[in-house]
Amino acid sequence: MTPQKHSEIIKQVAKLNGFDYCGISKADFLAEEAPKLEKWLKSGFQGEMSYLDNHFDKRLDPRLLVPGAKTVVSLLFNYYPEKNPVETEYKIAKYAYGEDYHTVVKDKCYSMLEQLRSQLGDIGGRVFVDSAPVMERVWAEKSGLGWIGRHGLLINKSQGSYFFIAELIIDLECEPDGPVKDYCGTCTKCVDACPTEAILPNKTLNASHCISYLTIELKSSIDEKFSDKMNDWIFGCDICQDVCPWNRFSKHTNEIRFEPVEAIGYSKKDWEQLEKEQFDRVFKHSAVQRTGFEGLKRNISFLKKISTNS
Ligand code: SF4
Ligand code: SF4
Repeated sequence: MTPQKHSEIIKQVAKLNGFDYCGISKADFLAEEAPKLEKWLKSGFQGEMSYLDNHFDKRLDPRLLVPGAKTVVSLLFNYYPEKNPVETEYKIAKYAYGEDYHTVVKDKCYSMLEQLRSQLGDIGGRVFVDSAPVMERVWAEKSGLGWIGRHGLLINKSQGSYFFIAELIIDLECEPDGPVKDYCGTCTKCVDACPTEAILPNKTLNASHCISYLTIELKSSIDEKFSDKMNDWIFGCDICQDVCPWNRFSKHTNEIRFEPVEAIGYSKKDWEQLEKEQFDRVFKHSAVQRTGFEGLKRNISFLKKISTNS
């Protein structure tokens, strides 16, 4: 079978498993990314996320992650929910409304890999969903699924940026796709809207200032300098995506496992009264577990203190 035919089958199987877009790249060293990544890490923009300092070489070369790797298959899975947050209540990022995407999207990737093996033979490879040193946005961009916007996220021209990105890194030779154009143009809406000035020129994100980092990754207390900038976000932040003109084209997800949990309708008072037992029940299978009950309470108390003082 030819590499073209392999790519064709992979794309059909991706569609059958519910992926919205699938693009293919040759597994190779990301030469252009090496100096950018080094500079970003040296600037300390990763904050307390010290795990990003590790596996520098593996991050840049998928063949070091998966021996014999020939192809990176990038997959996009839409999570854009029907329900919108109430501006005056506490908010959590849309990607965390339903069941944890790691589980949901990984299940689909494994099913896809199994189906590929039944059609194409004993393919060696691994599945990645935001869980290992893979530069997922770079691979998705290389394989033509979109471009990396000023806010650092992948934008698909037909459907915006509310996607999870997954990869299959496999030892099967395939016909690669090429990149698409960058359509940010002269727009700076995300830069202007970011309340913490985390989006810097040259598409650099100072992650240590991003509300997503402050509410999820940061283990110590949130610096008071952010007190008037949190905009009621208690887990993640969607501001830069919400203002992006390309998200006019977002379509609601059909994935039943991303149905919002009951907390998505909570009032501020409900969140402030949230107890551990309730948290464990409501967020049992949720990505919100990442910050944990104590972390979420810290975020809520930080915001509550601000509103009490103002
Ligand atoms: S997620 Fe929020 S804080 Fe982070 S870069 Fe986007 S707008 Fe800024
Ligand atoms: S808001 Fe504008 S600059 Fe920012 S990512 Fe979207 S198109 Fe690009």
